[in-house]
Amino acid sequence: MGPIRIAIDGYSSTGKSTLAKALAKRLGYLYVDTGAMYRAVALYLIENGLTLDQLIEGLDQIQVDFDSDQQIRLNGRVVASEIRHMEVNQIVSQVAKIAQVRKKLVEQQQRFTQSVVMDGRDIGTVVFPDAQLKIFMTAKPEVRAQRRYAELKATHPEVAFDEVLENLKMRDFEDENRRVDPLKKAEDSVVLDNSDLSPEEQLDWVMEHLQDRKLV
Ligand code: C5P
Repeated sequence: MGPIRIAIDGYSSTGKSTLAKALAKRLGYLYVDTGAMYRAVALYLIENGLTLDQLIEGLDQIQVDFDSDQQIRLNGRVVASEIRHMEVNQIVSQVAKIAQVRKKLVEQQQRFTQSVVMDGRDIGTVVFPDAQLKIFMTAKPEVRAQRRYAELKATHPEVAFDEVLENLKMRDFEDENRRVDPLKKAEDSVVLDNSDLSPEEQLDWVMEHLQDRKLV
C-alpha cells in the first residue's frame, strides 16, 4: 500500500491541529500544519515591513520548512511562537490570497511522500485531492473564539473576546471568498462538528472512519 493521506480542512480555530497532531501520533504518521506555513510567510512580511507587492517580488528569498520536531522555520529560524501573534492573525488571510504564495507552498506540501495527516483549508480540494480520508471541521463561531481567546490570553493579556471573535469571522469570510483555492468542503469529505465533542471523542470518530475504510 502506498502512503496514506488524511486531509483535515475547515474553519479557523476548530481544533484541526489538535486533532491532526493526536491522529498522527496514534498512527505514527507525519503531521504537517500548513497554516503555520502561511503564517511564516506573513511573519516575514511584517518583520521586513513589506507591502504585498514587495512580498511577491521577493518570494524566492523566503524559505519555510519544518525542523526534525516539526517546528515551523522561517529561513532557518524556529518561529513557532511568533507566528501565533495577533499581528500575524490580522494579515495572514491577505497573504494567503496571493496566487504566487499559494503555488509555492502547495508545491512544497505535495512533496511530502510519506503517510501524513495534513491540516489547512485546501488540503482535500487542492493539495491532496486523492487523500484516502478527508475531514471537514466546523464548530460554532462562539465556541471557536472562546478556544482561541483562552490560547491568546497567555501572550496577549489585553486581548478582548470580541476582537478575537471578529478576527475569526473576518478570516472565515476571507478564506471562503478568495478567488484562489478558497476554503470549500470537498464533496467526498466527512463533516465533523466538534462544538460539543472532547478531543478523545473526536479521535474515536476519526478512527471509526479509518476502520470503515479498512485503512487501519
Ligand atoms: O490554520 P491557521 O488558522 O493557522 O491558518 C492561518 C491562515 O492561513 C488561515 O486563516 C488561512 O487564511 C491560511 N491558510 C490557507 N490555506 C491553508 C492553511 C492556511 O489559506 N492550507
